This record gives sequence, structure tokens and C-alpha cells, in this order.
Amino acid sequence: MDPLIQSLVSLRWQDIVDILLNSYILFRLYVLFRGTNVIRMVIAIAMLWILERMAMSMGLIVTSWAMQGIIAAAALIIIIVFRNEIAGVLQARSLRSFFWGIPQRQIQTPIEIIVESVYELARHKLGALIVLPLKKGIESVVHGGIPWQGKLSREMLLSIFWHGTPVHDGATIIQGDQIVEVAAILPLSKSNDLPSHFGTRHRAAFGLAEKTDALVIVVSEERGEVTVFKDGAIINIEDSIDLDRMLREHAGTVHATKGARHQTMELGLAAMICLVSITSIWFSFARGFETFITMEVPVEFMNKGPKMELLATSASSVTLQLSGSGSLIRSVRPDQVKVKLDLANAAAGSNHIAIARDSIVLPPGIHLKQVEPQILKVNLDMLDQKKLPIQPDWSGKLPAGLILQDARVTPDLVKVTGGSLALKDIQTIYTEKIPLENITTDGKISVGLMLLPSYLKLDDESQNHVEVTYKIARKPPPSDDDAAK
Ligand code: ATP
Ligand code: MG
Repeated sequence: MDPLIQSLVSLRWQDIVDILLNSYILFRLYVLFRGTNVIRMVIAIAMLWILERMAMSMGLIVTSWAMQGIIAAAALIIIIVFRNEIAGVLQARSLRSFFWGIPQRQIQTPIEIIVESVYELARHKLGALIVLPLKKGIESVVHGGIPWQGKLSREMLLSIFWHGTPVHDGATIIQGDQIVEVAAILPLSKSNDLPSHFGTRHRAAFGLAEKTDALVIVVSEERGEVTVFKDGAIINIEDSIDLDRMLREHAGTVHATKGARHQTMELGLAAMICLVSITSIWFSFARGFETFITMEVPVEFMNKGPKMELLATSASSVTLQLSGSGSLIRSVRPDQVKVKLDLANAAAGSNHIAIARDSIVLPPGIHLKQVEPQILKVNLDMLDQKKLPIQPDWSGKLPAGLILQDARVTPDLVKVTGGSLALKDIQTIYTEKIPLENITTDGKISVGLMLLPSYLKLDDESQNHVEVTYKIARKPPPSDDDAAK
């Protein structure tokens, strides 16, 4: 089978959840940051990362090393340079909108208010510079503005550009229905093609329109004319209807249907790219270059019936051959790999139990190649109880001339628990060995019990010592009859 199809077929449901979940998170991050400069930098970093991987796989050590440095620096730069943009995005969105929904690009700007104010300013020949940013951030090219938190209104705009107010110089920036900055300095254009009557105000407006997708409105102080700068174009505005149409086009309301289709296509493409990237990252991680290791793993026996006793097993551990990508294989810890044999269906006596795949627990991404041995022989026995007589186990010989006349064990019976097969063959329990050499008189001795085989257990553990009372007698002297013989 084709290796690609083979690895697709062997995907577990966890792998699919893994890929889908991470693709969705990546996609949501894109939705959150789309249209900002951050996303462009992140895409650039992702491309650098792909190049770095390629350099690494080709063995270009210094190149890949240098790229790693650039990536680290770029990540830091993104955070520092775009911190306002990042904070703005995060503050503007609720937690719910992170997980669901497509945020509107712009809060509706009250276009009528802007049009009305601009023509009011023009009538009074008050110079004005108004910026309406679109998708791209303008923070990196606009400087020196004074933060201004105020809802957009005709009165507010008129008073900002009124002669003599401290903030009438520079540009006013409008975002949604808010005036966010005043007295901002825009980048001056270096173009030589501007009409000669354009001074620095017009040049600054043109400069910003060249560099970003913002729309800039200029009201000329000298001529009372209204000019719009957008995407490097200079548009002379005839009347308020003209300006109204321009602004609506800019805000996307005129071409709303076209915008919606465009947005669906853009998001669909982004979703596809997220899915493909995460899938390839997942495969390079989880499948990557197959590496093998061999591990010796102890077998755990599970679900043994309460009355069952494990007598013997042919092996207490098995050897597993595992495969996975190098990075995953290297991170496997012995406690993550388990072999659990189910004894629920095993019967008393000898059992042959195959080590099935589902009795082996492996960390995610690690695959089983081989088990050795594949079958374990397990001897089980049913637990049983039996009352057995106790017999003293004498050793050695009594000193010459003495005989053991009588011996009594108290208690003389003991109850033992053990495998039924073993118990069947046992008729007596012996005490530990009692040496006879030092015994010369009657006496009493406390001795332990020998429980053999070792898995026999006393019913009452306190009974593991018994008392042996013995009587010693003198051997009768040999009779004359015997001597005569
Ligand atoms: P107008 O037709 O209104 O005279 P203009 O294009 O001839 O405009 P200037 O007469 O030079 O321009 O206008 C100067 C004003 O332009 C300044 O007072 C200031 O408010 C504004 N201005 C100049 N340079 C910048 C800039 N870089 N950023 C923002 N505003 C600027
Ligand atoms: Mg001028």
C-alpha cells in the first residue's frame, strides 16, 4: 500500500481531533488578527521557519542556525513593535468572539457627520487633515499624535480644527465612531508629481495614502477645497454627495455584496491553509522519520478473580519493539508504556494468553511493531481452605541412651489457604526443624511452621508458631537374651 494512504488509514480518532482542533485555533487567530500588520509578520516568520527546516534537512548547518536566530529576533520584534496593535485586537474582542463568529472589519463610521463637518470646515476655510484607516495598521508610519478618546461629532471635529486650538496642527485619526488621535504627524511624500499648489498638508496626506490603505481627507486652508487621498490617488471632491459616496465605498458599504463574497473566499482559503499546515506539522511530528526502540516492560496481571491465585508465569516481562518519529520516541518514558494482561477469562490450571494489541498501552504517536513473547503461559489456581495436622520435624539424633517417648503439638491442626491443586497433595504441615542433639530432658519448645509451597497462607497469621511438648526416656539396657545372641 502507498505509505501516504497507509498512514491516513492508521490515523486514530484522537489524531483527527488533534489536527482539527489545532487547525481551528490557528484559523481563529487568523480571523482575530487579519488585516493587521501582525498577521503579515507572522506569515513572514512562518515562511522563514519553512526555509529553516529545508536548510536543516539539506544539512546547511550555519544557514539554519542563522535563520533560527532571525526567527527568534523577529518574534520579539513583532511583540515589541506591534504591542499596541496586539493589545487593541485582544481588548476589542470578547472571549466568545475568539471561538466563534467573524468580527466585522469596522464599527460603522458615522459618514454623514464627517461629510457635514468637512464642508463646514471648508466653508470657514479651516485647514483640516482627517485619516480613516482601513485594514492595515498605520501605527508604524504615524507619529507624535495625542491620544484622544471621544465619540465622533460635528462639534468635536470643528473645535479640533478651529484656528488657534493647540491640536489643530497635524492629522486627526478616526476609527469606527471614535476620534482616537489628534495632532498626528503623517509621513511626507517624496513624490515630484504633486501639483505645485500642494503644500505640506497635502504632501503628508499623499504620503500616508502611498504607504497604507487609509483614506485621508484634506481641507485646504488657502482655497477651501476638499481633496481625498487613497491608494496613491488624488481625488478632487466636487460636493458633499461626492464625498459621501467616496467614504461609503471606503467603508465597504457600497460593495457590501462583493465584499461578502470576497470575505467568504478569503476565509475559506485561510481555513484550507490552516488545515494543510497543521496536518503537515502533525505528520512531520508524529510520523516524521520512523525510529525504532526496544523496551523491556513488566507485565501487569489484571482482573484476576478474588479466589484465584497466580502460581507461575512463563515470563514476568515482555520485549516491545516500538516505532515513531525520532523526537517522540526519544521522549518516551518507561512509565508511559504498560502491558496489562486480562485474566478475567483465565481458568484454574495452565492458561496460554496471547498478548493482544489492546493490552499494550502506548503514549500517543508511538506504534507497536513487535512483541516478544507473543504468548504467556500463566498457571492459576482456585483458592481453597484445608485443615491439616501439624507434625514436628525432628532432625539429628538424641544423645546416646535417650529415646523420644512422646511428642505433642498444640494446636495440632492448622487451617491453611492456598491453590486447590496444591492443597490436594498436601496432607501434613511440618514445623521448622527441631534439632535433637541438645535435648536431654522433657521439655517444651516453640517452633515456627514451614509453609510449602510458599503461596500457602495461614488462615490466622498469629498461629504461625506452635508449641511442641516432648517426653524423653532412657533406653532400656539390652536384655540378656539379646546379649546371648
Ligand atoms: P493648505 O492648502 O491648507 O495651505 P498646504 O498643503 O499648502 O495646505 P501647508 O500650508 O504647508 O500645506 O499646511 C501646513 C499645515 O499642514 C501644518 O500647519 C500642519 O497642520 C499640517 N501639516 C504639515 N505637515 C504635516 C505632517 N507631516 N503631518 C500632519 N500634518 C502636517
Ligand atoms: Mg499652504
